[in-house]
Amino acid sequence: MGSSDYYDILGVPRNADDKEVKKAYRNLARKFHPDVCKDRGAEEKFKHINEAYSVLSDAQKRAQYDNMGHETYTNASKGSYTGGGGYGGGFSTDFSGFGDIFDFFGGGNRRAGSQPGADLLTRISIPLEDAVAGTDRDIAVMHTEPCPACAGSGSETKKQNTCPRCGGSGQMRQASQSPFGQFIRMTTCTQCGGKGKIPERLCKDCRGSGHTRAQRKVTIHIPPGMETGMRLRMEGYGEAGDFGAPNGDLFIEVYVLPHERFTRDGDTLETMIEISPAQAVMGTTIEIETIDKRHIELKVPAGVQFNTALRVPGEGVKRRGHPGELLIRVKIVTPRQLGSEEKEMYEKILAIEGKHGGKKGFFSGFMGKKKERK
Ligand SMILES: [Zn+2]
Ligand SMILES: [Zn+2]
Repeated sequence: MGSSDYYDILGVPRNADDKEVKKAYRNLARKFHPDVCKDRGAEEKFKHINEAYSVLSDAQKRAQYDNMGHETYTNASKGSYTGGGGYGGGFSTDFSGFGDIFDFFGGGNRRAGSQPGADLLTRISIPLEDAVAGTDRDIAVMHTEPCPACAGSGSETKKQNTCPRCGGSGQMRQASQSPFGQFIRMTTCTQCGGKGKIPERLCKDCRGSGHTRAQRKVTIHIPPGMETGMRLRMEGYGEAGDFGAPNGDLFIEVYVLPHERFTRDGDTLETMIEISPAQAVMGTTIEIETIDKRHIELKVPAGVQFNTALRVPGEGVKRRGHPGELLIRVKIVTPRQLGSEEKEMYEKILAIEGKHGGKKGFFSGFMGKKKERK
């Protein structure tokens, strides 16, 4: 599902600001809300609109979406979890969006029924090479899931009865008198907690809650190009919802660990090589190891200057199939000790340059050169 681009779904340009996104969402949500629109496919459309809005209205999710592209983002956010009390899947639980909807339809008029599960957030650290190439990671998540004894119903018989206190509405009317007349206040039913239903016979395992705590192993697919602070979403891997309601989502915030040889700036990787003065003067070919431990040859041109960055295209961070480049910073290391032969050679070079000894040091030579040029 949701194969079309979120921007297309909301009908906004890619550079639309928050206001435009919200406005487009409001218009569409009003039009396609299942309570209003009885067209076939309206409900599906409504889900997609909500899904698109839940991503584009959240600066962090939106940045991640823009970065990864629709395909990668939605694939990364999709879990393979199919359990969870009749969870249909595909509905993103972003209730800032929902709040708006309920505002349109009668000011906080929350219907009786099952509450979806809460979202969970967990953090993982990955080495830079995994952020570059992408990886799969197993993580353990503690979360609530539907009680296996009662299949999440909270009832030993798996049957639920209509709540006698609220008659199934999930709300109670509280009447109070005032000089202006009778006020009716709606409050959440205290017996069923707003669900409108109560277990027929209380399940002993979960004491009627319908939930148990469990640790679950989840394999997450980390796509290439992740940066510190980016979040992946696993739909349905959050806390269990009430009986019949969807689970929350699991968000995984990624922290990319520093690397001993490579630094990263966006899609660009950078590393350093050390060469001798002679190599710098004459040029050379050296072997370097890429971040994924392949060995490639790098041509260092004759006359290379200190701190020059040599570019190797395609060896940076691959994001959305477009690899960045690798910068190789050249450090020229002056030998601290010379053999007699080497020393002789350097003496010769100095003699040729005519700057040996006397008052003519490097600095005066440099200044002299500058004068010459004028
Ligand atoms: Zn009730
Ligand atoms: Zn139970």
